[in-house]
Amino acid sequence: MDRRTFNKLMTTGVAGLGAAPRSLGRVQQSTPAGGAEPPSQWPGQVYRRLLVDTHVPDWDPMLLSRFDPVDYVATIAGAGFQSLMQYAISCAGLCLWHTKIGTMHRGMRGRDYFGEVMDQCKRHGLYRVAYFHVVWDNHACETHPEWRFQPEEGEDGYLQGRYGYACPNTPYREYALSLARELVTNYDFEGIFNDMIIWPGVCYCPYCTIRFRKEHNAEPPRIVDWDDPTWRTFQAAREHWLFEFADEFTKAVKNIRPILVEHQFSTIFSDWRAGVPLTMGTETCDSMSGDFYGGPAQFSLGCKAFNSLNHVRPFEFMTSRTNNLEDFVTIKPIDEWRIESFVPVIHSASAFCIDAINPDGTLNHQVYKCLAKLNAERAPYEPFLGGSLLGDVAIYYDKESMYNPDEEGVRVDQLKAPGKAPHFEGVLGAARILREAHIPYGVVTNATLDQLKDYRAVVVPNVLEMTAEQAAVFRNFVERGGVMYASGPSSLDRFAGPRFLLEEVLGVRYKGKLGNRVTYLTAKDEGMKKVMWPQNEVIFPGWMVQVEALAGAEVLATVTLPYVDPESIHVIGSHFAQIISDPPAEEPGTDPGLVIHAYGRGKAIWAAAPIESAGNAVNARLLVWLLKRVLLGPYHFEVETHPAVEMTLFHQPEKGQLLAGLLNMPRDLPPVPVGAVVRVRIPEGRRVTGVVRVPDRKAMGFEKAGPYVQFRLEPFPVIAMALVGYR
Ligand SMILES: [Zn+2]
Repeated sequence: MDRRTFNKLMTTGVAGLGAAPRSLGRVQQSTPAGGAEPPSQWPGQVYRRLLVDTHVPDWDPMLLSRFDPVDYVATIAGAGFQSLMQYAISCAGLCLWHTKIGTMHRGMRGRDYFGEVMDQCKRHGLYRVAYFHVVWDNHACETHPEWRFQPEEGEDGYLQGRYGYACPNTPYREYALSLARELVTNYDFEGIFNDMIIWPGVCYCPYCTIRFRKEHNAEPPRIVDWDDPTWRTFQAAREHWLFEFADEFTKAVKNIRPILVEHQFSTIFSDWRAGVPLTMGTETCDSMSGDFYGGPAQFSLGCKAFNSLNHVRPFEFMTSRTNNLEDFVTIKPIDEWRIESFVPVIHSASAFCIDAINPDGTLNHQVYKCLAKLNAERAPYEPFLGGSLLGDVAIYYDKESMYNPDEEGVRVDQLKAPGKAPHFEGVLGAARILREAHIPYGVVTNATLDQLKDYRAVVVPNVLEMTAEQAAVFRNFVERGGVMYASGPSSLDRFAGPRFLLEEVLGVRYKGKLGNRVTYLTAKDEGMKKVMWPQNEVIFPGWMVQVEALAGAEVLATVTLPYVDPESIHVIGSHFAQIISDPPAEEPGTDPGLVIHAYGRGKAIWAAAPIESAGNAVNARLLVWLLKRVLLGPYHFEVETHPAVEMTLFHQPEKGQLLAGLLNMPRDLPPVPVGAVVRVRIPEGRRVTGVVRVPDRKAMGFEKAGPYVQFRLEPFPVIAMALVGYR
């Protein structure tokens, strides 16, 4: 497909949207091959982006031998993409440009694939981003054994696999930085993306060991113990070393040319082993970028978190054309692909597609027919995107709490569930619940806690690592009228006490732990009994925190233990209350399980366990009921629609308008069209001037409903957007 065909797709309304108004034409790539500057502005107006995975080695002469930059770029440009991220180096560690420092891919046979692609991109008016790659480097691992990552169990295990890792504390670091400098110096492009800047695990190579001894006067500890100051220092050092590498990379690039720099940041949700601090996102990246595969709640959460950390708009939301990156052949059903590619649209982000090259270097051209169709469907919405995300409730994500507190005192190589992070289960669960309940939400993080002022409530799920400074921010927030929901050990200071840093805010004093594998909440409050009806208890698969309620705290529920301690069950004598489950005790417990407490002008809700992390419908009902009980309206918006629909609202004050986006993401496909009744709150002291449908700007009927303007959306299969103007 050539660009003319793509433009025809756009204007003949393949998406069923009708002809796009002329004003939308500005940001479409309509430049014919042959030369002029691209019409859209980089990066602000570039919403259709592509990467073709090229992790191909060169042991076989066939590999990448049929790569044809002319056909490759023409195919990509013809499918309506505005930018191409092009491989300079991959996990294989071989360079696809003319390098004097690295090793060139033999399949190029003296050609310069990267340079030729850059030239073709310029011809077609595509913005160019270099795809760079560090740490995961088979070539470096093979040619420089002294650079290898050395886990506690030794390197043999991973050398039997497919990925080789280099440690960034070895001279590999300077090698990688030199490659980046050479690339940026010798070629012209608008941005660089640095993939895989994470620790593959805990490294005990001589370089890491000597550096830790020198900087901290101690041996790198082998036992994971979050109560051990040396272990904590070691983890902080690992994060610092990686941050330093990212920072050096960014500065090395920017010292040559002030182009856009991104480091892979889907690692935002990785656990402690990856050693990625959030400051890497806020201080070494211009824009957030990363790939996600976890479904609607994770996509929604990822976009909100990127929105919080991002500087240069729009951030990139990446998804692959296959089910996952390990499956080379299975292409996502077009309905699923379409829905996923609209996730960034309702977040005013760019939709970034990851394709994969055939081993011989050719593309699957049929795929680009699908991509052209999806790009043509999304393009008309792009001129309307932008603004600030409006939320009433912030979910607090603390990257430093991404570990498993139940696995303490275990050797690094003996960990059974290092990836289990109860904090993240709570964060993701809260996102799922708020999204499905249509409560306007966003994310604040330990690196962006100052954004809390933009919200009226905060959900603090099972936070293990709150500092005294962070606790002061939350205390101040509630004192001034904010609502805080905190679960489990959130704000526990394990060293001085242990006691809750927010004891006087939450209205509970820490005493210890209750139960082990299964515990229950039993309602005391009549309203809560109705929410749970016809259940009597809410189950939690783990221990709860034991507290004493302070004067003035209202106890809504208590903690009830199982009839028989699950750890004392045995066959002889059949010691259980039920052979396949652990029913609650006959008498409800008396320890507080759910507490509401007034502090200053605000209110706090405390839960003895992160009820938000469980997927049961009753847990979702309970959290929403608790929040709505203390967080009174009006909210930024309300919407009556199916829980599969997510709504977002962006404020564009300079244009005097609010952009509402609704995306239907049902579990089963194809999607059944759903309608919605939407209520959007107009900024204080302003009045509504009109509501128009996006992208065709058709005027819509609306009415006033209290503090809101209310309008109806006819059933839509995937996406609906509307602009609310005010004066
Ligand atoms: Zn090392």
